[in-house]
Amino acid sequence: METLNRRKIIIAIDGFSSCGKSTFAKSIAARLGYIFIDTGAMYRAVTLYALEHGAIRSGIVDEERVVALLPEITISFRFNPQRGASDIYVNGDLVEGKIRTIEVSNCVSPVSSIREVREKLVAMQQQMGRARGVVMDGRDIGTVVFPDAELKIYMTADAKVRAERRYIELTEKGDKVSFEEILDNVISRDKADMSRAISPLRKADDAIVLDNSAMSVEEQMEWFEHEFNRVQAALAE
Ligand code: C5P
Repeated sequence: METLNRRKIIIAIDGFSSCGKSTFAKSIAARLGYIFIDTGAMYRAVTLYALEHGAIRSGIVDEERVVALLPEITISFRFNPQRGASDIYVNGDLVEGKIRTIEVSNCVSPVSSIREVREKLVAMQQQMGRARGVVMDGRDIGTVVFPDAELKIYMTADAKVRAERRYIELTEKGDKVSFEEILDNVISRDKADMSRAISPLRKADDAIVLDNSAMSVEEQMEWFEHEFNRVQAALAE
């Protein structure tokens, strides 16, 4: 990447579910030598733990039980060179392969709307980004976690395009899911994430919008390079 890679900054990427935030963030981090942090994976890991420890039954989240479980949950990341990204661990157990099922996706929005869950994970995220040089993706990175991020990107894409991408990803892994089920999940998560009381998904005033409905990964990278250089030039002034 032909970048003016002078100062280590924070790149905050927020946006709707399944719009390719992680793929985009991972590519940027690899090119810049930054650390990539997928905060959605952290909310998914807490949700998986809650499912496995009886705090969610028949899709109903017992908030008090989730909060009671929090002190026993330790989340960590370890870089996996094969994936070119970090795998997520809960209490030392690798859970990367278990957090993207439709069951977890269906319960993650109510879990992520619990105040204590957000407080714990936001504090961890702020700690991980304190040395800067990170690309962090989520829903509230530019608004709550790092309101001072030097580059904020708000990603969006057509809901059907997003559901199609997630459908291909899950069926390629062998998951038995229908396109309609995925589309319903994408739409209902968008709604829940935008309307929750604490840290709802919204565009930060100083974020720039990237609608990638009809963009290839290469086109997104070109777009990013331009924006990154613009920020670096402004910081150098
Ligand atoms: O990014 P991903 O789709 O994996 O995120 C899963 C869920 O985690 C989102 O639908 C949202 O409810 C929650 N989340 C959040 N805040 C973040 C990242 C994710 O509330 N920063």
